[in-house]
Amino acid sequence: MPSPDLQTVVAEIAAEMRSRPDRGEVATYIPELGRVDPNQFAIAVALRDGTLVEGGDTETFFSIQSISKVFTLTLALGLAGDRVWNRVGREPSGSPFNSIVQLEHERGIPRNPFINAGAIAITDLILNGHQPRDTLGEILRFLQFLADDDSVFIDQGVAASEERTGYNNRALANFMKGFGVIDNPVEYVLGTYFHHCAIAMTCRQLAKAGSFLAHLGRNPTTGFSVVTAERARRLNAIMLTCGHYDGSGEFAYRVGLPGKSGVGGGILATVPGKASIAVWSPGLDRWGNSHLGRLALEQLTARMGWSIFGSPLATSA
Ligand code: GLU
Repeated sequence: MPSPDLQTVVAEIAAEMRSRPDRGEVATYIPELGRVDPNQFAIAVALRDGTLVEGGDTETFFSIQSISKVFTLTLALGLAGDRVWNRVGREPSGSPFNSIVQLEHERGIPRNPFINAGAIAITDLILNGHQPRDTLGEILRFLQFLADDDSVFIDQGVAASEERTGYNNRALANFMKGFGVIDNPVEYVLGTYFHHCAIAMTCRQLAKAGSFLAHLGRNPTTGFSVVTAERARRLNAIMLTCGHYDGSGEFAYRVGLPGKSGVGGGILATVPGKASIAVWSPGLDRWGNSHLGRLALEQLTARMGWSIFGSPLATSA
C-alpha cells in the first residue's frame, strides 16, 4: 500500500480543525491568554531532510508556556547532568499541573520536571546564582538557535499577566524553599520561570526547534549535536510519560508519541527518526491540554502510521 501523502493529510487535518465547533476552553487564569482568539489552528511538521509541511496559522506567534520546560530541562541536564534527578523525580504525577498536594508528602521534591513545581525547581537550577535577565537571555538564545530564527521573543504582556496572578506558583516555590529545594531568591526564580513560559513562537519555529529530539539529539539538517543520543532518548521518555500532566496516559493512548503541551494551546511532539511536529489551537481540554491539537495529532499519527507503539489507533472525536 503506498504511504499516504503527508501534504494532503496535513492540509485535510488543518481544514477540518479550522471548522470544528468543539474547540475547548481558552485558559483564563493567566488573563492575557484569555484574550486569544480560539478560532485559530496551526500544524507544522519538520521532516528529517529539513522539509516543513504545514497547515493553518503557522506564522502566528503563540505563548509556548510549559513547552518551554522541555528546553529548560535540556539546559539543566547540560549544566548539572544526572544531579538534576536529586531535585526532581521522573515519574508521572497523576495530578493537575499546578498541584501542591504531592509536594508535602514528597518533602518538596516534585514528581517530575514538567509539572509546575518541577519546572520551577529546574529554573532555580539553571539560574545558579546568575541574574534572571542573564539566564533568560540564555534560554531565549537557545530557542532562537534551535529554531534558526531570531524572531522568537518573550511576550512581556503575558509574563506581566502571570506575575500579577501567579499565586499558586508562588505558593509552590515558597513551599519548596521551605524544604531547602530552591537555592536562589524565590522572586528571581519565579520571574525567570514566568518569563520563559511567556516565550512566543510560531508552529513553524517550534517544529524546527524540536527536531533534535526526534533525531538522536542532532539537528538533522545541519548535523549539529545538541545533546547526546542517550539524553534525547530520555527527554522523549519523560515527554511521553509526563508531558501532558494527568492527561499523559490519554495522550499516549490516543496519539502514541512523546509530546509536551502548554496552556497556550501548543503541543510539541516527536516521531523518533522521522519528524518533529508542532500543533497549536488555544482551546484546552479538562486537563489543560490543547483539545484540537490533540485531535489533530491523533489523526496524523493514525493516518501516517506514526505511533511509536506500531499500530495506529482508530481516530475518534
Ligand atoms: N506558566 C504556566 C503556569 O505556570 C504554565 C502551565 C502550562 O503551560 O501548563 O501555570
